[in-house]
Formats: sequence, C-alpha cells, structure tokens
Amino acid sequence: MAPTDFEALNTGFAESRPKDIIRHAFEQHSTIGVSFSGAEDVILVDMAVKLNPNADIFTLDTGRLHPETYRFIEEVSKHYGIRIDVRTPEQASLQSFVKEKGLYSFFEDGHQECCGIRKITPLRQKLSTLDAWITGQRKDQSPTRSDVNIVEADTTFKGLSGNLTKYNPLANWTSSQVWEYIRLFDVPFNKLHEQGFTSIGCEPCTRPVLPNQHEREGRWWWEEATHKECGLHAGNIISKG
Ligand code: SF4
Repeated sequence: MAPTDFEALNTGFAESRPKDIIRHAFEQHSTIGVSFSGAEDVILVDMAVKLNPNADIFTLDTGRLHPETYRFIEEVSKHYGIRIDVRTPEQASLQSFVKEKGLYSFFEDGHQECCGIRKITPLRQKLSTLDAWITGQRKDQSPTRSDVNIVEADTTFKGLSGNLTKYNPLANWTSSQVWEYIRLFDVPFNKLHEQGFTSIGCEPCTRPVLPNQHEREGRWWWEEATHKECGLHAGNIISKG
C-alpha cells in the first residue's frame, strides 16, 4: 500500500467509529492480530470479538506484570470465551540478562534493554506472522502519542510478507470515551484502575498518577517524558526527534 493511500484512509476514517475501523481492518487482512495490554484497551477486544469470535488476540507477558493484570487477562479470556495468545520472553536471553544485570537494572541504565528482551523480541516474533495489527494507542495518552494516526505503515517491525500495517482505531478517542464505552457495555476492567492506575504496564515501572497528569507519566517516571515508549511504538519517539 502506498503512503498516499494511508493519507486518504486516515482522512476517510477521521469521523469513523473504532468498531468500523476494526471491521475494515478485518476485511482487508487475513492475518491480523489485536494487541491487548491488560488495561483499558480491553475495549478493542470487546469490539473485535463481537465482529469475529475467532479474532487473534495477543498479549505480552513480560514476567513482571501486576498480579491484578494476570488475573484480568484470565478474566477477559473467560468472559469472552476466547484463547488469548500470551507471548513470553525468550528464555535463554532473559536468563543471561538477569544473571548479568539483576532484576532492576532499568532504574540505573534505562528501560530499553529490559523492554527489548521482555517485550520487543516476543512482539517482533508475533508480528512476523501477521500482515497487520491493531493497537489501543490514543493521542491523549502522552506527548509521544499526540501524532498517532488511525492507520499507518509500521516501519518498526516486519510482517509476514515484509510490509506491516498498524491500526490505531482509538487514536482520536479520549480516556472519557473509553470509560464511557466500558460502563455502557459492561466491559470487564483491570482492578488496578480502581487504585489510581491509568496506564498499566509492568509492576516495577508503573505507578498511579495525580489528577491532571498525563496518564503515561506513571510509566518510567524516572525518565524523560519524550522517551516513554517501550519500543512497541518506537516510531512515536523517532517522529518526535
Ligand atoms: S516495563 Fe520495566 S520491567 Fe517491563 S519490560 Fe520494560 S523495563 Fe522491563
């Protein structure tokens, strides 16, 4: 697909409902996965499963998630009667990383290496089996996400045939709209949200935020705001320079 086609698609999708964007994505790609982080992007699971009960839903188990998140992933699986493809880090590289640097090296030399092993490599492997993926990224989540498109060529990873398309159906939605959907459709949600967590990631690298803080300020709070991506959406950082 040429870049100009993405531009036209984004213009066309500007007023579209997320569910209609997901429907379009399903129609366009035979191998497409829905990324589920264990947080409020659960609404993507809700929409996707209603469109296709056999939708490929996957999540990354870094080994460092909150107990509440593990329970929530299981709850979502049971609630929708689906099997979630839980991707785990490659054992040998994780063992040698932990042996060499311990369990909390990210507080000293940044989160990239740990995220690389626990998230990026498993994600790369998963995406190499797909033509497209769907994520819960929204513009209002952080400074690194303010330019997120509804659909774009993913230039960070490679898909099954080389090209990979990334859909962000919630790009133009606000946090309020997401929670309105959760309440309206009785969608299960991670209990950490009741404890002040807005953005949910690994336990050591996530903390609740105060009122009026960007939700991703609770992630890697010891690092600069413009670097707060784990590499799943590395293009956001590149585009910010
Ligand atoms: S968020 Fe923290 S614990 Fe999780 S993979 Fe990244 S650096 Fe490691």
